[in-house]
Amino acid sequence: MKLVDKVHIMEVGPRDGFQSERKWIPTETKIEIVNALSRTGVPTIQVTSFTHPKAIPQLADAEEMMRGIDIVEGVSYRALTPNMRGLQRALAFKDRLDGVSVMLSVTESHNRANGNRSIADTFAEIEAMAPVAQEAGFIVSGSVICAFGCPFEGEVPLSQLERVAERYLALGITHMSLADTIGVANPLQIYRVASHMRANYPAVTWTLHLHNTRDMALANVLAGMQAGIDRFDGGVAGLGGCPYAPGASGNIATEDLVNMLQEMGIETGVDLDKVLAIARRHEAFIDHPLDSALLRAGKRSDLKPAPQAQQKVAVLEAGG
Ligand code: ZN
Repeated sequence: MKLVDKVHIMEVGPRDGFQSERKWIPTETKIEIVNALSRTGVPTIQVTSFTHPKAIPQLADAEEMMRGIDIVEGVSYRALTPNMRGLQRALAFKDRLDGVSVMLSVTESHNRANGNRSIADTFAEIEAMAPVAQEAGFIVSGSVICAFGCPFEGEVPLSQLERVAERYLALGITHMSLADTIGVANPLQIYRVASHMRANYPAVTWTLHLHNTRDMALANVLAGMQAGIDRFDGGVAGLGGCPYAPGASGNIATEDLVNMLQEMGIETGVDLDKVLAIARRHEAFIDHPLDSALLRAGKRSDLKPAPQAQQKVAVLEAGG
């Protein structure tokens, strides 16, 4: 099986993960987590979203976050900017941020649920935002939201993904993320869609943003790599969701993603032990079970003494 040699991970837990938590997470805790993540070798971290504080109260501290985090060399810091107002807030941190993400749903109903306006209206604003962000030197990434299925419209024809990709391309946006926002994709679908989009838009650098809602995220990573995708988002401790996508659950846990890739000999540059330790720290401030296989089971290399050896030790101890 031919796969990619190296995978680039963007850590989105501090944004996608935290935004779906109802219980307030203190800003200093969030900053601690980002600072620890900055020292794991993960190349890109999405720190926050400059969204309206009433829309997502958990991320109302975006400015404090951006001011408070350490900027570690070699790490690229990103933020989500859902509208022009958000972009203007992000511009105040252009010496700390390398890039911003904009987002467009592939269906009218999800776009309305997410942004309270039509795709055309959202796109008109992105049209105004793109040159401003590019002028500031930001890498602009366009998220293709609900690319694999919509909670209101179900299956989404490829033509709707193509339309979004073409709109982004027309604005010079060449980084795009195919988002399985509600976690409905299956591996064959991922393979087909990713192959199709890569073949049709070779100028685009594609990322897969996967949610593990139906336990298929790791299988989807494998299918994505088979289609040649080498960029994936992960959320430490498997937090995440979408406040406007009913039933959506966590991002693929970064530690599970790194673990699988490492076991397969695919380079990520990420220190698994460090990510796992950060995931474990979430147990202290997240008030629900975490969706992380590695937190439950540990690494394969965490060997336990064989029952026979244990008996021997017991005999020796008893005799000695
Ligand atoms: Zn997401």
